[in-house]
Amino acid sequence: MVTLTIDNKRVTVPEGTTIMEAARSAHIQIPHLCYLKGYNNIAACRVCCVEVENENAMVTACNSPVYENMVVHTNSPRARQTRRINVELILSQHDCKCATCVRSGNCQLQRIANDLNIINVPYPEQLPVGLRGAWTSTYPLFRDYQKCIKCMRCIQICDKMQSVHIWDIDGTGSRTTVDVSHNRVIKDSDCTLCGQCITHCPTAGLRERDDTDKVYDALANPDLIPIVQIAPAVRTAWCESFGLDPKAAPMGKMAAALRRMGFAHVYDTCFGADLTIMEEANEFLKRFTSGELKHFPMFTSCCPGWVRFLKGQFPELTGQLSTSKSPQQMFGAIAKTWLAQKLGVPAEKLFLVSIMPCLAKKAECDLPTMQTEERGKDVDVVLTTREFTRMLRADRIDPVHLDAEPLDNPMGVHTGAGTIFGATGGVMEAALRTAYWKLTGQDPDPAIFSAIRTGPALREAVYNMGGATVRCAVVSGLANARALIHDLKTGRAHYDFVEVMACPGGCSGGGGQPISIDDEERAGIRGSGLHQLDAQMKLRCSHRNPQIQALYEEYLGEPMSEKAEDLLHTDHFAWNVTECY
Ligand code: SF4
Ligand code: SF4
Ligand code: SF4
Repeated sequence: MVTLTIDNKRVTVPEGTTIMEAARSAHIQIPHLCYLKGYNNIAACRVCCVEVENENAMVTACNSPVYENMVVHTNSPRARQTRRINVELILSQHDCKCATCVRSGNCQLQRIANDLNIINVPYPEQLPVGLRGAWTSTYPLFRDYQKCIKCMRCIQICDKMQSVHIWDIDGTGSRTTVDVSHNRVIKDSDCTLCGQCITHCPTAGLRERDDTDKVYDALANPDLIPIVQIAPAVRTAWCESFGLDPKAAPMGKMAAALRRMGFAHVYDTCFGADLTIMEEANEFLKRFTSGELKHFPMFTSCCPGWVRFLKGQFPELTGQLSTSKSPQQMFGAIAKTWLAQKLGVPAEKLFLVSIMPCLAKKAECDLPTMQTEERGKDVDVVLTTREFTRMLRADRIDPVHLDAEPLDNPMGVHTGAGTIFGATGGVMEAALRTAYWKLTGQDPDPAIFSAIRTGPALREAVYNMGGATVRCAVVSGLANARALIHDLKTGRAHYDFVEVMACPGGCSGGGGQPISIDDEERAGIRGSGLHQLDAQMKLRCSHRNPQIQALYEEYLGEPMSEKAEDLLHTDHFAWNVTECY
């Protein structure tokens, strides 16, 4: 252990701790922009400079280890002046039009500039110009070079968390910036569209394609019937932008808000999740009992970020993906067929909007395999949770003063199994609940699957169900997924069924979720909120959803019937990651 003094406070920390983390442990916050614990401590922004007694130079707190009897001043006149100059220099190369910026209000640069009372930048503005910038307005991810502060967080997140290596440093000297690696343009890269670089960017250097105008147009079009589905993970996150606890902003308030905006019907993607389980659990049992999974497991396919990763990085394993569509796309296919019939309207009149925690789902709904000549696109537009909350603010809809309203039916009833899709391990647990029933004839006590609910990013469990031994793994974050595939390929690991979610913590930590610059633990909090909702539900297994039962009885027949295969399954070989835009 090492004892030092920070701002006159004695602090004892393990040897090797940085000044930044030693200060944090003593509840002293050192301002920073580029620092991201565990990912980025390259001292690029130099905002975390502090003064250390008996050292000539200012020291960057994020990457300088403490030593015995070190004396640190985080707010000495010299530290304050250095920090201020560094922020002013960053501002001189940043497009400071905060009023028209998507991150205004939760931008780390804006906050530091405000905190330091910087109301004038004494340096001439030098915005980057003439960059490669071949960004197509149709691509779901957008880079704004004039908002980028070159903190390199996106590079590190894409490299270390996701192992996809999309970003790199570009240019030299004062023209150094960040751009797509290997001189590619983004649409030719194998970006998974997980959106983690966006949620970890301190400014608006990265953002998603804005699709709110498409939704406003549809809401105003008298020839369309706008309907909406809400993803599982959105329900415990949408209220954060309003400073509300999820318990104070339940789904019923969201339904009321969406009807206020003009949607004719409000449905729940958890219905689609229950349907996914019916198909995926049956598909798994079929592939498992046929001996097809001897060498490689069946991978879940409900995360389009993961599907893009596998197809881009390990195309030879594409056949191991479940052919079941994701919940949003299953919902779309059924909405434009069965639901349209039930409502007595032509499918082309229905305009289906999805509210998702996800960027990859924007790309998923555009895939050629997710539309037909007859029905058009099954899902017309995907909004992220962030876009949805922006629309709420634009329409001056205050969730606090809304009375909760029920969802529409059919396709508004769901089970606890559908709800936990939004948390890592949830898809696997939901599928196992139904597989257990198929193999034993009884519903399981969900508690038997608790081993895959919490724990490290990679969780393993072996379940005995009706005499069958099923080896399962759950993993989130694509670097973790890559390590798992490596273990499978080298024979170090053997599983029958593997759930992969591209975003750490699953969709709760999705790339389209609200961005919090203060709280790095949001994914876990949102995920445990979903498990609490599941525990409160009477129906906790997808096969017990009465509306799913009605759908099969009235329309699909049984899971994996010809009609179910046609509407609910897909061919992952039919498209390439780089051909989509
Ligand atoms: S895009 Fe964002 S995360 Fe990436 S370098 Fe620029 S400011 Fe940093
Ligand atoms: S969206 Fe994901 S894969 Fe694409 S650049 Fe960002 S972090 Fe990398
Ligand atoms: S984990 Fe969820 S939010 Fe993230 S890419 Fe996958 S589906 Fe989208």
